[in-house]
Amino acid sequence: FDDGVEFVRSSVMAGTVPDDAEAAMDAKATLQDERKTLPVYKLKDDLLKAIDEYQVLIIVGETGSGKTTQIPQYLHEAGYTAKGKKKVACTQPRRVAAMSVAARVAEEMGVKLGHEVGYSVRFEDCTSDKTVIKYMTDGMLLREFLGEPDLGSYSVVVIDEAHERTLSTDILFGLVKDIARFRPDLKLLISSATLNAEKFSDFFDSAPIFRIPGRRFDVAVHYTKAPEADYIDAAIVTVLQLHVTEPAASGDILLFLTGQEEIETVEEILRQRLRVLGGKVAELVICPIYANLPTELQAKIFEPAPEGARKVVLATNIAETSLTIDGIKYVVDPGFCKVKSYNPRTGMESLLVAPVSKASAEQRAGRSGRTGPGKCFRLYTEYNFLNDLDADTVPEIQRSNLANVVLALKTLGINDLVGFDFMDPPAAESLLKALEELFALGALNSRGELTKTGRRMAEFPLDPMLSKAIVASEKYGCSEEVITIAAMLSAGNAVFYRPKDKQVHADAARRAFHAAGNVGDHVALLNVYNAWRESGYSAQWCRESFVQHRTMRRARDVRGQLVALLERVEIAPCSAAGDLGAVRKAITAGYFRHAARLQRDGSYRAVKSRQTVFVHPSSGVAQAPPRWVVYHELVLTTKEYMRQVTELKPEWLVEIAPHYYERKDVDEPEVKKMTSTATGQEKTTTGATPTKHTPNLNSFF
Ligand code: ADP
Ligand code: MG
Repeated sequence: FDDGVEFVRSSVMAGTVPDDAEAAMDAKATLQDERKTLPVYKLKDDLLKAIDEYQVLIIVGETGSGKTTQIPQYLHEAGYTAKGKKKVACTQPRRVAAMSVAARVAEEMGVKLGHEVGYSVRFEDCTSDKTVIKYMTDGMLLREFLGEPDLGSYSVVVIDEAHERTLSTDILFGLVKDIARFRPDLKLLISSATLNAEKFSDFFDSAPIFRIPGRRFDVAVHYTKAPEADYIDAAIVTVLQLHVTEPAASGDILLFLTGQEEIETVEEILRQRLRVLGGKVAELVICPIYANLPTELQAKIFEPAPEGARKVVLATNIAETSLTIDGIKYVVDPGFCKVKSYNPRTGMESLLVAPVSKASAEQRAGRSGRTGPGKCFRLYTEYNFLNDLDADTVPEIQRSNLANVVLALKTLGINDLVGFDFMDPPAAESLLKALEELFALGALNSRGELTKTGRRMAEFPLDPMLSKAIVASEKYGCSEEVITIAAMLSAGNAVFYRPKDKQVHADAARRAFHAAGNVGDHVALLNVYNAWRESGYSAQWCRESFVQHRTMRRARDVRGQLVALLERVEIAPCSAAGDLGAVRKAITAGYFRHAARLQRDGSYRAVKSRQTVFVHPSSGVAQAPPRWVVYHELVLTTKEYMRQVTELKPEWLVEIAPHYYERKDVDEPEVKKMTSTATGQEKTTTGATPTKHTPNLNSFF
C-alpha cells in the first residue's frame, strides 16, 4: 500500500457509555433478551404513559436505541391495535429500511412477515387483513391519504426518521397535524435521531419531547492530510489498509458511498485486490446495501461474518440513521452523497453527488461507536470539514420539483397551497412552477382545478410526467407499450450488465435491442421486455442477452400493477402493433418539457430552459445523436447527462403541447447541423420565452 492515504487524528467525539454495555455484547442473548438491552426498553412504561397522556409526542434518541423496531411493538402490546382492529403505521423515508425493519420485527414477534407485521412500499404491498403493525415509506402513507383522508384505520401514526425531512415526510407533517384536530383518538409520534427536536415540537403546537438517553462510545476521528483527488480509490485503499492492519476480530467496517453504481464498482475492485492478496489476509465479506438491493440480499448485511473473517458494508446514506448494523467499529466516510437538486427558475431537476453536511458526517462517524469505542476515517481534511461543509442538509421540499405533491394535495381537495401548514415552506416560485407544469400536462385547468386527466394521473404512483405519458397512451392507442416502458423505467437503472471480459458481446447484445433507425432508449427498453416475455420470462435468456434478470422480474411486477391501475382509470389495454411513432408521441406527451436540440458541438440544448446537456454515454443514441430528443431524466456527474433518450420530431412539440411550445421554439436554425463550415455563431434565439396562454396562476394559489 505505498499509495496509502495518510490520516491525521484530530478529535474525539465524546459519548456516554451505558452501564448495560456488556449485556449488549452478549452474542448468546436470545432475540427477546436482545430487545431488553436496547436503550428504549428501560423507558417503555414512561413512554407508554406519555403517549397515553398526549396526542402528539416528539421522540428523540440516538440511532440504534430501538425507536423503529420497538415502539410499534410496545404500542401493539399495550392494546393500540386491539380495540376496533386499528393499525399502527410507521413511516420510513427509504423502502429498504421499511422492508428490512418489518422483517426484523416480524422475526422478533415470531410471526410471518406480511401477517401481523407487514410493509408497504411503492409497487410492493406485503400486508394482509391480519396486519396491525405496518411499516411503510412516507410516500405510501401520503398515497393512503388519497383513499382514506382521515386515516381512519390507524390508531397511531409514527412519522419516523423525521430529521431526514424528505419531501413526503414534510407534507405528511402538515396533513397529520390537520387530521389530529378532528380525530382525538389518533396518536401521533414524531421520531427523530437529531437533537434539534424543538423545531418539531414548535410545529406541533409545543408537543412534549420524550428523550431516550443515547448509547454512544468515543469515536476517534481521523482526517486526510491533504484533499483526495479520487475518493473512490482513497476509500478502497483505506478499507484494505484497515483490514490488513487491524485484527479482523476487532470489528467490521462501514464505507459510505453515493449510489448503486459506485457500490458495485467498489465491490468489484475490492474483490480483485483481495484476490491478489490471496491467503495473506483474513477473509473480507463484502455486503452492499442500497435502495434497489433485491430483497433476498437485504438480510445479509445483518449476518455476522464467519469466525476469523471481517465484514465490510458498502452502503449509501441508508446506513446513516435508517439502518443500524451491529458490530461496526470502523467508518470510512468520503464525505459525499447523492442529492436531488432543483432549479425552480428553469424547472430542471437533477441528481448530483454533493458534499454531506456536518450533521451527516457526525451521524456517519457515530455509527462506529455503538458497541465500543470506534474510529472514523474522513477522506477529506479537517479544514474542509470545518469550513466547507454546511451545518445541515436543506429540507428536500426546498430543492425539489413539487409537481407530484401539488397533484396529491389538489387530489385531496387542498387548493390553498400557500396557506398549507409547511414546517419550512417551499419557495413560492417552486409552487408556481409546479402549478405551471401540471397545467401544461393538462392535470389542472386554467383555474387551477383538477381535471379528469389530473385525477387519472394521480392514481399512478409515478412522476407526473410518466403518469401523463400513460394517460396519453389511450389517445395514441399504445397503453400496452407505454406501461411496459414505465415499468422498465421504474424497475431501476440496472437493466443491462457488462462483464469486463465480455464487453464486446454485451455491447452487441445491447445494440440489438435498438429498433431500426435507432429511435431511442425507451423503445429499446420496450424491446428488451417483449423479447424477455417471448422467451417465457427466462433467466437463461437474460444471461445470454446480458440483461439483469432481477430488474426484469421487478419490471414484470410493476407492470402487473400498472395494468390494474389502467383498469381503475378505465383505459383499455391497447397495442400500437409496431407503430413506434405512436409510442414516442405518448412519451413526448409526458416528457415534452424535457425536449432538447442538438448543437453543432455535439451537445444538446434544452429547448425551453436553454440549459446545455449531454447524451449519457450509456444511451443507445450516443453514437448517432438525433437532431431532437426527449429525455427521461438528468444526472449530473462531470456534466449534465440525459439518461434514457428518445428521438422526437420537433413538430410534435407544438402539436402535443400547444400550451407550452410555439412554432418559433422549434423552428430549425438556418445553419444545417454538423455540415456547416461557417465560423459564425449559431443564431441563438432569445432566452426562455414566457409560456403561451399562461393563466394567472397567482390567482389560484
Ligand atoms: P433506532 O430506530 O432507534 O435507530 P432500531 O429500532 O432501528 O433503532 O434498531 C434497534 C436494533 O435492532 C439495532 O441493534 C439493530 O441492529 C437491530 N436491527 C434492526 N433491523 C434489523 C434487521 N433487519 N436485522 C437484524 N437486526 C436489526
Ligand atoms: Mg430508526
